[in-house]
Amino acid sequence: MLLHDESPAAVEAREKNFILGTYNRTPFHPRSGKGAQLFDADGRAYWDLLGGIAVNVLGHKHPKLVKALREESDSLLHVSNLFYHPAQGILGERLVRESGLRRAFFCNSGTEANEAALKFARLANPGRSGIVALEESFHGRTLGSLSMTGHEAYRTPFAPLVPGVTFVAPNDVAALEAAVTNEVCAIFLEPVMGEGGIIPLTDEYLFTARKLADKTGAVLVFDEIQCGLGRTGKFFAFQHSGVVPDIVTLAKPLGGGLPLGAVLTGDIIEGLVKPGHHGTTFGGNPVACRLGNTVLDELKAGALVQRVDTYGEWFQRQLKALQAKTPAIVEIRGMGMMWGIELDRPAGPVARELLGKGFVVGTARDRVLRLLPPYIVPKKALTEFISALEQVCRTGALACPTAAATGEGACPTQNHKEKAA
Ligand SMILES: *Cc1c(COP(=O)(O)O)cnc(C)c1O
Repeated sequence: MLLHDESPAAVEAREKNFILGTYNRTPFHPRSGKGAQLFDADGRAYWDLLGGIAVNVLGHKHPKLVKALREESDSLLHVSNLFYHPAQGILGERLVRESGLRRAFFCNSGTEANEAALKFARLANPGRSGIVALEESFHGRTLGSLSMTGHEAYRTPFAPLVPGVTFVAPNDVAALEAAVTNEVCAIFLEPVMGEGGIIPLTDEYLFTARKLADKTGAVLVFDEIQCGLGRTGKFFAFQHSGVVPDIVTLAKPLGGGLPLGAVLTGDIIEGLVKPGHHGTTFGGNPVACRLGNTVLDELKAGALVQRVDTYGEWFQRQLKALQAKTPAIVEIRGMGMMWGIELDRPAGPVARELLGKGFVVGTARDRVLRLLPPYIVPKKALTEFISALEQVCRTGALACPTAAATGEGACPTQNHKEKAA
């Protein structure tokens, strides 16, 4: 069955009838990709500045990933965790050495990595159930990870959740100090918050978290599922501050596009996790781990983390220059290949207008455009994006004061454009 032959209309109609409504999908139908480009069902090309939500760091159809996938699937697609296979150990060793932590556990997704981290933290602190997490954080959708996710709308329909979670405002040192008591078992932080709107935590805040964890015995967990593995211009985001956590969780780009998550544990967890405490059927699958090793190979071979850093600084200057002449752009936040463009109005329509111009971008919360491009993104794509955004600022969805600000109706230039179209 050639799935690519299905027309977009047929795909949408079938989903409407048979797929649960968990996603508010954009009517966009990517069917193939190469490098930082995606091609839709009509063959139209787009710059992919979202990278499958921080997954496709090597872009699409990377020859090394395709080759590794072919080779490894020619041996074994799956082997149970009851037996040995070299793939997990090799990837585990590399991640452990990069992080300075001690051991790795492999799972299939980000939310699973955080679930495992929470269980390991419980082992380190028997009888202590408090968790400190951040307002507007995102740690995943399963019940444990959801319980620590600061976005209230995601949690409310599923209450009661895991009890004992205290949410504090990001970068509020005093609030963190007040929240981390001797009853706290774990502190969960994203060094650069992703879904929350691309909010980097300050060095001071991370230092304080480390100090409080040391004082109380709480396990400091850094969720680097979105910001880790080179995204911020260092291999781990925590390396900017030098604050080393007790546990790091990873996922999104780790499997090169296949589902793969990891938990890296430090000294505080040594000797605690015994057979039977945790496990997974698919976690650390040989094909996913092989691709994970290929991702790490390519980060090194292409000096991609350095590239992310260099291009990130250049891109920030372009974004800030645009912000300086655009009232609708409130703030630019981020680093490396992780950017939030906060607007004075909902970001959804702006993202759709950019899609129409050939740029795939994401959003975060209501008003933030979110960019998570592949690390190999050509400078040309970023330059063209800046021009497209500039155009949206001049004549498109960002051209007018918000209706709220002026008390008026729709934007005249937009009406004009619609009439012309
Ligand atoms: C995406 C994400 C998760 C959840 O990962 P899934 O693989 O979707 O379960 C957790 N934490 C952060 C920071 C994320 O960005």
